[in-house]
Amino acid sequence: MSFAENLARLQARIRDACLACGRPPESVRLLAVSKTMPVERLREAIAAGQHAFGENYVQEALEKIAALASEALEWHHIGLIQSNKTAEIAAHFDWAHGVDRLKIAQRLSDQRPAARPPLQVCVQVNISGEASKSGCAPQEALALCQAVAALPGLRLRGLMALPAPTTANANPHAPFRQLRQLFEQARTAGLALDTLSMGMSDDFEAAIAEGATLVRIGSALFGPRTGKPVPQA
Ligand SMILES: *Cc1c(COP(=O)(O)O)cnc(C)c1O
Repeated sequence: MSFAENLARLQARIRDACLACGRPPESVRLLAVSKTMPVERLREAIAAGQHAFGENYVQEALEKIAALASEALEWHHIGLIQSNKTAEIAAHFDWAHGVDRLKIAQRLSDQRPAARPPLQVCVQVNISGEASKSGCAPQEALALCQAVAALPGLRLRGLMALPAPTTANANPHAPFRQLRQLFEQARTAGLALDTLSMGMSDDFEAAIAEGATLVRIGSALFGPRTGKPVPQA
């Protein structure tokens, strides 16, 4: 199946998931997660009308950003942010979804080039308490959001989560609902958040039912990732 056909099928699933819970289809944005995919696959995606791409590995992303510099694209860094990568992320990306510590946020803000608009960020929350080291604890999320919102080089847009895959008898909606509750709390506290970055190929319908505004989808769009990720330099 061509990329354009895959994209159309996925957009139809997103639309159906929205309609099933009474949400307007345009309330959910699709971020195409292109990690490990070669530039030619991104060109197909661009030709099919996709302009927002998510990448985890900075070196790999920088090559694609350079190769596609003549296109008007939106680049989202979606992975763990190591402190030795913040300068490159601040210089080359439009969004960062993995902000989970104030130190990282401060570096991104300080290193954001003055000529660019503030870097748009989501605070990542470790909602399902999985072994993964990334994401702040849910009880720390509000304070971190308030601190991030005060940084001049950043524009806080929302919250992000990467829940552990649900086991057979667990409720796939539960972690998304918990992130949504934190999002509402932060808005009640006066933060102007508009983005709930949650849902991937295997669980985006549950995420949409719980209020996702941005779904990050790789394999359901590009097919399985066979290529090994480039090692972090
Ligand atoms: C790889 C990745 C995705 C996409 O995963 P798929 O299951 O291929 O849709 C989404 N978000 C993050 C943070 C990722 O690392």
